[in-house]
Formats: sequence, structure tokens, C-alpha cells
Amino acid sequence: MDATTTLKNHNLRVTKIRLAILDALENGHQAKPYAELQATLSDFNRTTLYRTLLALIEKGLIHKALEENGESYYARCGGCTSYAHTHDHIHFKCNDCGTVECLHLSNELGFTLPGVAIDSLEITAKGTCKICNL
Ligand SMILES: [Zn+2]
Ligand SMILES: [Zn+2]
Ligand SMILES: [Zn+2]
Repeated sequence: MDATTTLKNHNLRVTKIRLAILDALENGHQAKPYAELQATLSDFNRTTLYRTLLALIEKGLIHKALEENGESYYARCGGCTSYAHTHDHIHFKCNDCGTVECLHLSNELGFTLPGVAIDSLEITAKGTCKICNL
């Protein structure tokens, strides 16, 4: 879905910076580190960029895929809303090239714990990605 439609679907005003962030994360399943977003979007004020990222997370358009060594990785959401992030995918980090991806599994991750209501689940897997594995 293109960035403008995504913003409109979430009842958000279409602004340059929102479009720029969504476009930078367009490559569906690949998460990008904050430093890279900052470099790509260097036209924008850093504070504005960070605040906009937080706002987009709150509105269910993007999510933090991983936080490691002080670096945060962000990725686009699929069917999330401003009420809830409803992910059931895992985050995969390649130990060789450092790529972080959102991986959707063929089987749903079903966890049931007696007496516990799970709203969201965060799982990080590490290994070698398809490209490095060739
Ligand atoms: Zn989400
Ligand atoms: Zn790799
Ligand atoms: Zn993800």
C-alpha cells in the first residue's frame, strides 16, 4: 500500500516527513536502523524525525523491530491500528550482514499460558540470512 493511502487509512494528515519515513521503510519486511533513517532523511530536523517516528508507532503504522547495542530498528506494520499492534511475526537478525527482517511464519505462533492474556509477542531470532547463506 502506498504511503499516502496508508496515512489516510489511519486518519493522519499527509505530511512530507510522514511520507518520507514510510517511503524509507517501503521495502516491506526489512527493518532499518535509526542511524540509516537519519542519514536518508537528513533534510528533516532530528527532533522532528524522532517525534514523528514515535507518533507513527503510536498510530500503528510502524513498529520497533529490534533494539540492540543502542540501535533501534524500525519496520512498517501491516494491519495494526492506533489501538493495538497485532503482530505475530518474528524478527530475524543476520549475524553476517546485520540485516534485520520481519519474518512471517507459515504457522501461527500459538502460545497459551493459563491465566495470562497475551496481546503481543516479541521474538528475535538470529542466524544467517538467505543471501549470506548462499
Ligand atoms: Zn504494528
Ligand atoms: Zn545476511
Ligand atoms: Zn516486524
